[in-house]
Amino acid sequence: MQRSEVLIVWFKRDLRITDHKPLFEASKTLKPILPIYIVEDEYWKQPFSNRRHWCFIHDSLIVLRNELKKIGQPLILRTGSVIDVFNELLTQFNISSIYAHEETGNKWTYDRNIIVKNWCKENNISLIEHPTNGIVRNLKNRDDWSKIRNLRMKENLIPKPNSLVPIKGVKAGSLPKKDSPIFKNHFIGKVQKGGRDEALKIIKSFIDDRSKNYLFNISKPGISEKTCSRISPHLTWGTISSKEIIKLLNLKKNNSLQNNKKIYNKNLNAIKSRLSWRCHFIQKLETQPSIEFSCMHPFHNELRKDDMNLEYYKAWKEGLTGYPFIDACMRSLNYNGWITFRMRAMLVSFASYDLWLDWRKTGHHLAQTFTDYEPGIHYSQLQMQSGVTGINTLRIYNPIKQSIDHDVKGEFIKKWVCELKNVPEMWVHEPWKMDLKTQENVNCLIGKDYPKPIVDHATAIRDAKIKLSSIFKKDGYRKNSNIVFKNLGSRTRKKSTKRNNQLKLI
Ligand SMILES: Cc1cc2nc3c(=O)[nH]c(=O)nc-3n(C[C@H](O)[C@H](O)[C@H](O)COP(=O)(O)OP(=O)(O)OC[C@H]3O[C@@H](n4cnc5c(N)ncnc54)[C@H](O)[C@@H]3O)c2cc1C
Repeated sequence: MQRSEVLIVWFKRDLRITDHKPLFEASKTLKPILPIYIVEDEYWKQPFSNRRHWCFIHDSLIVLRNELKKIGQPLILRTGSVIDVFNELLTQFNISSIYAHEETGNKWTYDRNIIVKNWCKENNISLIEHPTNGIVRNLKNRDDWSKIRNLRMKENLIPKPNSLVPIKGVKAGSLPKKDSPIFKNHFIGKVQKGGRDEALKIIKSFIDDRSKNYLFNISKPGISEKTCSRISPHLTWGTISSKEIIKLLNLKKNNSLQNNKKIYNKNLNAIKSRLSWRCHFIQKLETQPSIEFSCMHPFHNELRKDDMNLEYYKAWKEGLTGYPFIDACMRSLNYNGWITFRMRAMLVSFASYDLWLDWRKTGHHLAQTFTDYEPGIHYSQLQMQSGVTGINTLRIYNPIKQSIDHDVKGEFIKKWVCELKNVPEMWVHEPWKMDLKTQENVNCLIGKDYPKPIVDHATAIRDAKIKLSSIFKKDGYRKNSNIVFKNLGSRTRKKSTKRNNQLKLI
């Protein structure tokens, strides 16, 4: 029997139909289209994956399936290895092309993409990949990057196809449930809602209203949950593109200029910059995929590798370090799957400098916990906040200062560290300073009801600085920093090569 021709559109981290070039280009051929999402069981066994991510994807796939149905061909779902699924489809159809977005992800997806590329070659199928957001594949020179990225962001949005030519005789397949055993790593708590409709709803509410206090509250845990855009998981799993958000921001700007209103302000400019940082960080992983496992500056590679204190690690990830603000942030993050930038940075700083834990290990816990886990941002930020890039100022966060600055009355602490709920404001940031009588009065014995600080911050930081300075003094340190800067550094901060081992205590 002759197999009928189909084109596959392979959805991965791009769960939308608007501004989706692969789908649009495939639809223009007027050939039958098989839009597919594959739940890859091996992926879900990896140490960075988590059921929380799946819950978000699950919601998004339901919406995507309906959107595709409306234009003529619902999403096809399969579970298993991509090659097995494609081989099975090949027995039924003549697959002439596979359309997809370029993917900048973990080594696991990188290797899988190479396998798919080779499989396509062997089977004479053309693999047509389109760039994702502002990420440039095979970038020759980092100096050119921002120009290319900014031009891309100015391009018109790709409209959703009016209709797709449906395929006959293919099983729809089923969507694994949120509690399916495929998803090995578990979580306790909440997940932000996924889906295209939700992405549009929250970005509009941010631009029109919630952004008013964006910068003012950006570092306040407990409040930033409402005043940050919260668009990150949508960008990660692709229910909306960066370009779409930039167009919405530009529209707001034009409208406010026309109406002579100062609605478009520094808050909206700030989010536009952050969208650019987003691409900048993902570009680092695209250019150098090894940064998932190796320090950008090679001299740092062995620094923390053999010093993993598992008790410290456990205390850190469970929010039991004895530092109330660290513990509150971690417990809130574990439950909600999101915390604001500064607190992410502080949690990593505490793990890397105070507890001297390797970012490669702590990064897996955070990757699993963040609903918005985006490998390019994640590994770049982990390395920056752990001081292993050789091109960024080392920022060491003081957990007590941060606590006083961003939770002055200790309300956030008391919400998440209920052991401290009766502790008076004056002690809440450093409860170990209470005398025994006060501890008894407030039902919180330090060392029994709530841990003593796991390390002394001042001593731990002094030791960390000594270890780090031995690295900075090594011959060739500066030379290697310059190589890192040439390949990965931001061109808006040229001075950073001169400041690569500067220390900032915050
Ligand atoms: C150690 C560490 C790990 C991180 N891991 C991730 C991650 O896995 N996924 C992720 O999306 N963000 C990550 N971030 C960056 C940042 O914390 C989040 O993007 C932000 O908190 C998401 O919330 P939002 O969407 O409300 O952000 P907003 O402040 O509203 O910003 C809008 C968008 O801009 C981008 N953005 C914002 N801040 C940054 C930044 N510093 N670097 C790059 N892009 C940024 C994000 O796409 C974000 O959704 C990490 C930061 C640190 C310190």
